[in-house]
Amino acid sequence: MIVLKTEGELRLMAEACRISAAALQIAGEAVQPGVSTWEIDRVARRFIESQGATPTFLNLYGFPAAACISVNDEVIHGIPDKSHILKAGDIVSIDLGARLNGYTGDNAATFACGEVSPEAKRLMETTEQSLYEGIRKAVPGGRIGDVGSAIQTFCEDRGYGVVREYTGHGVGRELHEDPAVPNYGKPGRGVRLVPGMTIAIEPMINEGTAAVKQLSNGWTVTTTDGKLSAHFEHTVAITANGPVILTKC
Ligand code: MG
Repeated sequence: MIVLKTEGELRLMAEACRISAAALQIAGEAVQPGVSTWEIDRVARRFIESQGATPTFLNLYGFPAAACISVNDEVIHGIPDKSHILKAGDIVSIDLGARLNGYTGDNAATFACGEVSPEAKRLMETTEQSLYEGIRKAVPGGRIGDVGSAIQTFCEDRGYGVVREYTGHGVGRELHEDPAVPNYGKPGRGVRLVPGMTIAIEPMINEGTAAVKQLSNGWTVTTTDGKLSAHFEHTVAITANGPVILTKC
């Protein structure tokens, strides 16, 4: 069931999203060679809690941290770890949300650790740009397939693989609400977009093939070919005036 939000509810949700965005930015600034992914999670968690919010991901479905931190060939759901020390050249995807007022935000970005290769930079830039290509299509009267198609076309035209097994989603009181928001699709197909919908759009884009696998820890998803993956996400409200990115500082 798709839960539409009133303007008052959107204002409450925007607060949670603003904290989510600030936490992501602060976590991203902590990405440095020699820092562990556990330390980055601590930075995010402390900030969220300092704002009177709670980390949405912590203990959700049993996830043990405030942020999913996925490095290089890890696509999503990486578990922060004291023994995972970042090194220059890594690309680091951080995905987190903060809950406040009964609502949650959800956002992600991939950060460069020190100097990264031109190939890594191009993957990150393309993935981020594809998110905005998708957001532009999140307008009343459009369809979910318009969003996915825009992302898919943009990335596949540049030679990248679009992950199929995991998708964006509705977001609000729950982290995962209807509808699913795939990063692929056909224009004019799928759920019709109406004002009051709030969706997380989150392209997960691979340098090589689209194939992914889950590690035996039951969480971390990696590329099958060992090549890099990037992930960018915003929580977006669909309004009569067009898409509004809620996860902005
Ligand atoms: Mg999400």
